[in-house]
Amino acid sequence: MTRCGQNRSILAGIYILILCLLFLGRGSENAHHFALLLWPLIMLAGYWEDTPGALIVTILGAITAVTGSLLGVISHGAAVADIIAMGLIFGLTMMLSRDWEVLLKAHKAVRTPLERDLAKVERKARLIREQLEEYESRLKELIKLYEGAKRLLGILELHPVLTEARSLVAQSLPRHFGSQADKQVQLAFYIPEEGTGDFQKVEVRGHEILDMGFPEKLPSSDLHRKPDKLLNPLRVEDLTLDPRLKVLAGDTTFHALMIIPLIMHEREIGIMMLASHEVSAFSAADFNQMEILGKQIVFALRKTLLYHKVQTLSITDSLTGLYVHRHFQERLREEIRRAERYNQFLSLIMLDLDHFKRVNDQHGHQVGDAVLSETAARLREQAGSTALAARYGGEEFAVLLPNTPKAKAIQIAKAINSVIQASFIEVGGVRLNITVSCGVSTYPEDAIEQEALITAADQALYEAKRNGRNLVMVFTPSFDKPAE
Ligand code: GH3
Ligand code: MG
Ligand code: MG
Repeated sequence: MTRCGQNRSILAGIYILILCLLFLGRGSENAHHFALLLWPLIMLAGYWEDTPGALIVTILGAITAVTGSLLGVISHGAAVADIIAMGLIFGLTMMLSRDWEVLLKAHKAVRTPLERDLAKVERKARLIREQLEEYESRLKELIKLYEGAKRLLGILELHPVLTEARSLVAQSLPRHFGSQADKQVQLAFYIPEEGTGDFQKVEVRGHEILDMGFPEKLPSSDLHRKPDKLLNPLRVEDLTLDPRLKVLAGDTTFHALMIIPLIMHEREIGIMMLASHEVSAFSAADFNQMEILGKQIVFALRKTLLYHKVQTLSITDSLTGLYVHRHFQERLREEIRRAERYNQFLSLIMLDLDHFKRVNDQHGHQVGDAVLSETAARLREQAGSTALAARYGGEEFAVLLPNTPKAKAIQIAKAINSVIQASFIEVGGVRLNITVSCGVSTYPEDAIEQEALITAADQALYEAKRNGRNLVMVFTPSFDKPAE
């Protein structure tokens, strides 16, 4: 408080005291006394003397007080004492108050140019401070996103990448995914399906942000992109009212939708979709955020898909699409360990095309290749999804059957054998009748070691050849009887 302010508050105190004495002396029927109470207000304005408000309060207070007091004089002669007291206090105020001119002059006029400049600088500094605080919190968000993007690029597997991407989306849209959010928003990632141009939803593993309500597959035709054009990012206020997306809406109860295509080098690497059961749930800012994030996710996604492709190529035989010998051996080792640990059976079928050399000799190597590829397709189909089918080498194949006892393995081997025998293979106008011989061995009854299990199946296969081919033989130490 300034010295002037102090003076005025002391005077205000004295003045209130005098008023109280006047009231006590003559009773409270004189309403005009209340008007006099405004004088302390005038003086208390000293507290806020550097604000224009103080001047306004001072002037209004003075007018009201003087008017009230004069009315008192007209109606009550006794109020003359009040006027005298008021005059005294006013005089004292003026004398003791060093900058009483504040009461008379405009607030700004008494400020020196330096003070005015200082006030301006202060105002600017306050604005800058507020902006800085805003930038700081934005920067923190960006650092978080950057850290997340870095983590994304360090991951090689598809599911962990998309798990991290989910967390980043949640961080970027706290309004929809924060602890206060109503969990109405769902998020799905799609990746292209091999060869079809359609998109397949990637399943969510162990994440609280789910993709319930999205279709499993997005047919290319439903995406409403122009022919030979890439998908555009899209924000829809109400899916059910948008004729372009009727098919996409399907049976879902979603309303608001955002489609963020994940595009890199003019190729659609994937699609990120966010949907809400509320109409117009997503703002333009949300959409903007997701577009920026999509650009980071696409790098990581492309990297994992390439990595996956290289991985698959390195373990897949290019002619037949079956696993290569090396991968078969690795998986066999793992499966034997698993069978051992869980006390399970594990069966193995070795297969060899009968008189295949003749096919090559009579029809050429290319026809031979096509026969190998066709036979492999039938083999894979009959072996089932839990089996691991490999090209063991040349025209020899191996089928690994985890958790499968011998009887079931024989059944599968016979199914493969009869399907290949029954179906003709047509290549380049040539109709060929191909047959295979099969040998079956089972862990642990025939062998417990990897090499020994292969040798047992191989010996059974050799017996099948020896017994006339187009047969399924089961390993027995004597090899004297074909499988029933
Ligand atoms: P068997 O019934 O005793 O098995 O007679 P086979 O003629 O099938 O056996 P053999 O081992 O004498 O011949 C295998 C042939 O398979 C020899 C080889 O030219 C052919 N072959 C191996 N790999 C390929 C391949 O990738 N493509 C083609 N076209 N032929 C292959
Ligand atoms: Mg052969
Ligand atoms: Mg052979």
